[in-house]
Amino acid sequence: PIVLGIETSCDETGIGLVRGHTLLANTIASSMEEHARFGGVVPEVASRAHLEAMAPTVESALAKAGLRFSDIDAVAVTAGPGLAGALLVGVAAAKAYSLGLGVPLYGVNHLAAHVAVDQLEHGPLPKPSIALLVSGGHSSLLLVPDVAQDVISLGSTVDDAAGEAFDKVARVLGLPFPGGPHIDRSATSGSGTAIAFPRGKYDDGTFDFSFSGLKTAVARWVEARTAAGETIPVADVAASFQEAVVDVLTRKALQACRRYDVKDLLIGGGVAANSRLRALAQERCDAAGVRLRVPRPGLCTDNGAMVAALGSELIAAGIQPSTLDIPADSSLPITTVNV
Ligand code: ATP
Ligand code: MG
Ligand code: FE
Repeated sequence: PIVLGIETSCDETGIGLVRGHTLLANTIASSMEEHARFGGVVPEVASRAHLEAMAPTVESALAKAGLRFSDIDAVAVTAGPGLAGALLVGVAAAKAYSLGLGVPLYGVNHLAAHVAVDQLEHGPLPKPSIALLVSGGHSSLLLVPDVAQDVISLGSTVDDAAGEAFDKVARVLGLPFPGGPHIDRSATSGSGTAIAFPRGKYDDGTFDFSFSGLKTAVARWVEARTAAGETIPVADVAASFQEAVVDVLTRKALQACRRYDVKDLLIGGGVAANSRLRALAQERCDAAGVRLRVPRPGLCTDNGAMVAALGSELIAAGIQPSTLDIPADSSLPITTVNV
């Protein structure tokens, strides 16, 4: 079946079309330029932009795939978590398409969709897999027996999300928002061992993370040098900060693989686009005999294909469609795959 996926949890209006595990179209309209000057996403601006972008983005996805509305067999939409007003636009549109086309509706979890999307690139996800989900609002280690029906949380951040730490440190370094890609780029000309930044919860025996101490340490380091009139070695700070984040993420992910005797690790979410995270994860997986799966960067950050991919998975698993009265749930827990 051909599934239309609709993603509006943050600033991207993402529309995806998939058939089974085959990606047919992945079209994105972003309102990021409108938010950049505020240094963060402004919810009201995002909602309005989704409203304006929805119909044209659906139409351009159909055109790209060479499909018509009548070819769509089901509609999947992000029902949460995310910005309430932004989610509402997507959920309302999805209900309208579902009703208008006479096809089933699937309300799905945005975070589970970040995990499911990898199947479009690397095929069926081994059951079980360990998933490291690292994005702008979340950082979690998950045991995934079956992404369509069972996601277990092993641990998560106790303060900032990994992406949030990237964005805040970028701001301290005077890099544009969202800062993750800028730190990634800047770090390539710096040294990850130049400055010894703290690694929170490194050896605490849990699968939780903490990034706020690291973020504060970087800010203090930069402030002290600035006050002394020194030039900030931006590339070295970026690389050393990035190394601290990816060291902890990969270390705990492999500890989880060992603890649960799972041989497949998936990394998903916007921070999974990070080049150093990908490289270090590969190195440590190779050493541990674990197979690593990371989708290409364009599928890591928010998009509609990931939502369609999870919808497709729910259909294959024979899960009942959602009713037309499903709410948008801004704090939908990761363990609730669909609503
Ligand atoms: P969530 O999925 O938790 O609701 P979100 O949807 O806003 O949050 P994503 O789009 O999945 O988040 O990810 C965006 C985050 O990923 C931002 O914090 C951004 O800085 C970060 N990011 C994107 N590319 C990179 C990169 N190359 N290196 C590090 N971080 C990155
Ligand atoms: Mg985003
Ligand atoms: Fe996301």
